[in-house]
Amino acid sequence: MASETELATRADAREARATDDDARASLLRWYDANKRSLPWRRRGKQRKWIKIEALAEDAATPTRDVAAAATLWRERAFERDGEDGDASAIARMSDDQYAYGVLVSEIMSQQTQIDRVAEYWRRWTARWPTAEALAEATIEEVNEEWAGLGYYRRARFLLNGAVYVRDALKGKYPRDVEGLSKIPGVGPYTASAVASIAFGAKTAAVDGNVYRVITRAKMIKGDPLKGDAAKEIRRVADAFVDAERPGDFNQAMMELGATVCAPQNPKCDSCPISTWCDGFAKQRETSGVFKVTAFPETAKKAEKRQEQRAFVVLRRTAPADADAKPAYEYLLSKRPEGGLLGGLWEFPNALIAIESDDAFALRPKSDVRDAQDALCEELGASSRRNVDAVAGKAVHVFSHIRQVMHYQLVDYVPLDANGANGDDVVARNAPERELKWFPAHAFEESGVFSSGVVKVYAKCAATSVARAKPNASGAQKRLRDAAAPCEIDASQTSIKAFFGSAAPASGPPPLAARGGTEGLN
Ligand code: SF4
Repeated sequence: MASETELATRADAREARATDDDARASLLRWYDANKRSLPWRRRGKQRKWIKIEALAEDAATPTRDVAAAATLWRERAFERDGEDGDASAIARMSDDQYAYGVLVSEIMSQQTQIDRVAEYWRRWTARWPTAEALAEATIEEVNEEWAGLGYYRRARFLLNGAVYVRDALKGKYPRDVEGLSKIPGVGPYTASAVASIAFGAKTAAVDGNVYRVITRAKMIKGDPLKGDAAKEIRRVADAFVDAERPGDFNQAMMELGATVCAPQNPKCDSCPISTWCDGFAKQRETSGVFKVTAFPETAKKAEKRQEQRAFVVLRRTAPADADAKPAYEYLLSKRPEGGLLGGLWEFPNALIAIESDDAFALRPKSDVRDAQDALCEELGASSRRNVDAVAGKAVHVFSHIRQVMHYQLVDYVPLDANGANGDDVVARNAPERELKWFPAHAFEESGVFSSGVVKVYAKCAATSVARAKPNASGAQKRLRDAAAPCEIDASQTSIKAFFGSAAPASGPPPLAARGGTEGLN
């Protein structure tokens, strides 16, 4: 039987419930006092879209002066001694430029911590301050600027979206969710975020943080990404969004989920909407027997898989440089623009096994060698190993896949007697396979390789250097340590599939480091 104290606590919890209006106001007060300073955010209650309507001439004309547009972002993003830059710079830019900046921040924030995004965002908008400026960039330039953020297809989506805005929309961003959703790479969440933040549209932007808050506050059962639960989350979120400050409200909800209503150990006692939260009320009523962390109800995780791939690192001696120092070049192939890791360069590779976690067993060396030989043959190179062959394994672990990369370093020798120095390999495979020889230093300097490629290269370089020279240089040691996680293409089954994989549907990857997710509605 409950004690008198427990009964009193339950009564308190029932009596002190807030209305939607109370909770909304409390949330915005909390946001104004606690929001993180980020270069694309407005300050206080500044309403960009109202100010911009007064600047009709500017708003009707996209900013074509790239230098002037970049200056505006720099003024806003400038930070010294922890202070914000000039907040009025946002009001002085066209609303299309502002929408572009918000869109870049939203795409970058998916899969990446927000503090890290700010640094990349500043560099990005300094280089490409408007959609029209970005539309002029190449995929190589875009990937280079993106290097280190991971999930490179987000960079490609931004580029494709900018081209669409320039060509199909004449530089004008649609003001509503429906129109914004038609831009390549913009899903429902991003469209709602941009519509509300940049244009003041009253629509809820529901990312992973927001659905965590809503499912706890209204105790919504079921998989939050699907079916009735997803619809109910959407309904509650749309009803809760503030009509006057929808952009700030959406950012407040995201920030609340990221900093207060955390996946583990939510800080309910300091939550601005705790009196609106049914989950917290129940937690108090049951004296902690029920916990708010029971929501959201998560779907069963996908079974882990193990994947093994054969890689061929084809190497040739490059022409001597001005100092007459010999160096190596490596053959890489370009991923199709539309697919995973699109536009990045990889060593030719082929899938040789994929199995469940339990059934995993390393493939026999003979299987690996056969696959590597087949790769060489397809490329028109001899698979003859060096006397002092460099081969081995590197491992990458992903959310639900562990990838074992069996690599083999091979000095280029043409299969065809007419082959010369390796340029024939490139010529023979064009245009179906985009191949290119890269100098060794490119692996340190360029952002056009996936981290898996850098890892395999580092293994080969470190091993061959260690054999040739006990004291490796600093650069070689850095490459040896390369071990960043990378994405993989689980559908690839052969080198032919590698070179010809199909483009996926548009939209950035669904799960986000900050909890963001597309496809809730
Ligand atoms: S009271 Fe707790 S569970 Fe409810 S929204 Fe706030 S932090 Fe989340």
